[in-house]
Amino acid sequence: MPQQRKFTLKESDIPTHWYNIMADMPNKPLPPLHPGTKQPVGPEDLAPLFPMELIKQEVTSEKWVEIPEEVRRLYSIWRPTPLYRALELEKALGTKSKIYYKYEGVSPAGSHKPNTAVPQAYYNMKEGIKKIATETGAGQWGSALSFACKLFNIECEVFMVKVSYEGKPYRKIMMNTWGATVHASPSNLTNAGRTILEKDPNSPGSLGIAISEAVEVAATHDDTKYSLGSVLNHVLMHQTIIGQEALKQMEIAGDYPDIVIAPFGGGSNFAGIAFPFLENKLTGGKNIRAIAVEPTSCPKLTRGVFRYDFGDTVGMTPLIPMYTLGHNFIPSPIHAGGLRYHGAGAIVSQLLKDKIIEADAINQTECFDAGILFAQTEGIIAAPEATHAIAEAVRQARQADEEGVSKTILFNLCGHGHFDLSAYEQYLEGKLVNFEVTQEEINESLAELNTPVI
Ligand SMILES: *Cc1c(COP(=O)(O)O)cnc(C)c1O
Repeated sequence: MPQQRKFTLKESDIPTHWYNIMADMPNKPLPPLHPGTKQPVGPEDLAPLFPMELIKQEVTSEKWVEIPEEVRRLYSIWRPTPLYRALELEKALGTKSKIYYKYEGVSPAGSHKPNTAVPQAYYNMKEGIKKIATETGAGQWGSALSFACKLFNIECEVFMVKVSYEGKPYRKIMMNTWGATVHASPSNLTNAGRTILEKDPNSPGSLGIAISEAVEVAATHDDTKYSLGSVLNHVLMHQTIIGQEALKQMEIAGDYPDIVIAPFGGGSNFAGIAFPFLENKLTGGKNIRAIAVEPTSCPKLTRGVFRYDFGDTVGMTPLIPMYTLGHNFIPSPIHAGGLRYHGAGAIVSQLLKDKIIEADAINQTECFDAGILFAQTEGIIAAPEATHAIAEAVRQARQADEEGVSKTILFNLCGHGHFDLSAYEQYLEGKLVNFEVTQEEINESLAELNTPVI
């Protein structure tokens, strides 16, 4: 019998509940603060932006939150997702370790993001909302939310960072195909956008600016809410279906990971795969290392500070206790657009501070080296974000071999790279460069912060 490669589940194995790690954390995250008063925000402060059910999920300490039947039914369009043993990659590395990966690229949008887009659109529909405004960087979140909104006939308005809007037309066409309206940000449709354009008519835009625009649209229209694809507690919780499925699949494989790895932007796909395994660790069961991997060009977890900071550039969002490089930090234009965010979610930040999880930073050429090796062995062309997890898995396998031990490694392959082929083209032509941030750049950005210190 050859070794089993693929571990699949039935539709009836789609999880019935989301896992809320807050219930098991030794130290709960500090509360978010109102941007004006600097007092803890209450549900009424968030009500203009989010439907009440999501606000409840944001603060609940209930350990298991039931997934609505309608959401589970729609999850089955792409779930359960497969888990593979990377036998060909193991062979190419000549490693004694076992490497598994969970593949989230089989969703309609090609990433893990529909896992939260669908329930977010569902709760908005339930509360009679007609339109959702959001931002997108390279287009992953915008396309996931466009798809989800169409399922519930909600209008979707996306502010897309201008450089991506101009440079990555296909993600925009995907959003249009699912019926969404897409604007290049900064736009002249909002005060936030107009303010930026007055200062710099040629502004390339940033995620922070686009968030400010979308939040403003939601805050100033009664029938419109805002939606975020990462960072917030409820978003991380929705993603835990990834790890719950992976737990079952590892059981079928007769294995249990020593190390769980995921790329890190705001924390949602990392939380998704790692939290269900951390439940076992936190409640006294099995030990495990969980490693979040960020780019060296945007190293908030490994080189940022832990303090309150805004989620956006203009300072309209609540202040979140987070590892941050400062909300004015503009990362270099690396290809892993989904990882170019200045901060991390509150839960993940607290877990890192308490040393329950670990973080590592890898530069983009090492990531693409691993991505090419992965494509040429396992066949899948990974999203640039996802190559960070592959590169870390390769690091860990090589280190185990050096130490003469065998590890079981699981990583999240959070998306495919079919719309990122220009990045692969640059790599293949030898034109891909690395961006290291200097300590001066980080210090400068942090010196501008006047947010509360923790
Ligand atoms: C958005 C995105 C990320 C980063 O966001 P997280 O919330 O940290 O998961 C990573 N990979 C892909 C493919 C993405 O689309």
